Amino acid sequence: MLHSGRHPGNKEHYITPGDNIVEIGANWIHGPSKENPVFRLACDYQLLDKESMSEENQTIDIGGHPLFVPNWFISAGQKLGPETMGPVMEFFMKLLEKSQQFHDGGGEPLPSVGEFIKAEVERLAPEEWKEDQANIAIKMAMINTLLKLECCVSGTHTMDDVGLGAFGMYKTLPGLDCTFPGGYEGLIDHMMMELPKDVILYNKPVKCIHWNYTKNGPKTTGTSFPVMIECVNGETFAADHVIITVPLGYLKKHQSTFLSPPLPLHKLHSIQRMGFGTNNKIFLEFEQPFWDEDCEVIYLVWEDETHLADVVSDVKMSWIRKLIGFNVLKPTERYGHVLCGWIAGWESEYMETLSELEVLHSVTQLLRIFTGNPTITPRKLLRSRWFHDPYSCGSYTYVAKGCSGYDIDNLAEPLPLKGSNSKPLQVLFAGEATHGSFFSTVHGALLSGWREAERLITHYTPASGSVSSKL
Ligand SMILES: Cc1cc2nc3c(=O)[nH]c(=O)nc-3n(C[C@H](O)[C@H](O)[C@H](O)COP(=O)(O)OP(=O)(O)OC[C@H]3O[C@@H](n4cnc5c(N)ncnc54)[C@H](O)[C@@H]3O)c2cc1C
Repeated sequence: MLHSGRHPGNKEHYITPGDNIVEIGANWIHGPSKENPVFRLACDYQLLDKESMSEENQTIDIGGHPLFVPNWFISAGQKLGPETMGPVMEFFMKLLEKSQQFHDGGGEPLPSVGEFIKAEVERLAPEEWKEDQANIAIKMAMINTLLKLECCVSGTHTMDDVGLGAFGMYKTLPGLDCTFPGGYEGLIDHMMMELPKDVILYNKPVKCIHWNYTKNGPKTTGTSFPVMIECVNGETFAADHVIITVPLGYLKKHQSTFLSPPLPLHKLHSIQRMGFGTNNKIFLEFEQPFWDEDCEVIYLVWEDETHLADVVSDVKMSWIRKLIGFNVLKPTERYGHVLCGWIAGWESEYMETLSELEVLHSVTQLLRIFTGNPTITPRKLLRSRWFHDPYSCGSYTYVAKGCSGYDIDNLAEPLPLKGSNSKPLQVLFAGEATHGSFFSTVHGALLSGWREAERLITHYTPASGSVSSKL
């Protein structure tokens, strides 16, 4: 039986193709080494296998791009050999590294990562690929696949939307990405055990956060609280402080109603400017694998995509072209033969509107075309739908064209703003979108929560001011 469920505070879903748990949100600890708080907690709680915790694993620096063993399939129904794909991967990785170098120095030659990479490919390809026309066409098509892959990594529709100047803001940590054998849920469970019982309330979506409340709203008798949280079901909670961790996508959608009084203009503009896109997973289960035994990732290359334009022209007809390929879930003894497909952008959002059967049909046709095997039939399918999840409204944050670190600082800035006469630190902001170098990750989200908790602790610490006037 397939089932899914959402755990509060983290993008994790669990399904069971067969009897196995897979996650339709966060799966890896990116950069599992000492500096990563998720890794440290996972080690303390003994949630990882020995290899993941080894010193050797922690020192491997892959710069955010794990070196999975690939199988490349082309739309002619064949597999590509390593002699073609190796140099293209290397070439593309160098361009990605180059794209990250404008953050410190500035002076980016083009506004977006997509435009820069495409211009560099046009400029350098004739030098790099001195060979016959047919091979160059395939290499261009591979670049298109790699650009689509980057859309999944950044959670964007097109790399033309990702700002070149800010691309290097995202920092990677050393360590070979690892997973939780028992699922990410173990981490949340252990963290929850350290909290007093019944302090977390579930199923209480918040409609509006009223701040500066005692000034603008009805006075409460006795103690007065500056914040009043109004839930969708009408319940209210009075508070001194609230830390908001809703996704940036949710804030974008509900910016005019989620806070009262509304957000100051500069915060609002940063929320509008920053990027929050969609990346979805499509899990497929098979009787038998069609991939090599050592294969860890499958890439799909459309032979006719020889021009560098990473936008599918007709989303309804051709959405499936945006599916870049699949990770093979390992170890096989745990998962069976399960693939995890990746699809980002508007095509991903459109995919969410289709029935599971329609998606299964399209993916089956796709696999038959790319493998040249007309009998391949996945046994089960399960996909995420992050865009239509009313409390996510997408997947994660990227720094869009025209954005900078100031926008993230603006997002994280507490309310009321400094210099106001109102009670300080009424509304604080955490969540992955508010972390300047680890946005889009679980460790970024965790660190941002600790940052805001620390802000409140400092506020109530005698050394930082007069306690009596604050309590
Ligand atoms: C497909 C996918 C794969 C990913 N893979 C990885 C990975 O491998 N490794 C990694 O580090 N990161 C990964 N991420 C990113 C990671 O999941 C997020 O960065 C992280 O979950 C962000 O945490 P958060 O607390 O900021 O936001 P969220 O986890 O989105 O939590 C926000 C919470 O706010 C709640 N909420 C929203 N609106 C309201 C409201 N009105 N009232 C009350 N509650 C509300 C939501 O229900 C949710 O529980 C992935 C994300 C996706 C979508």
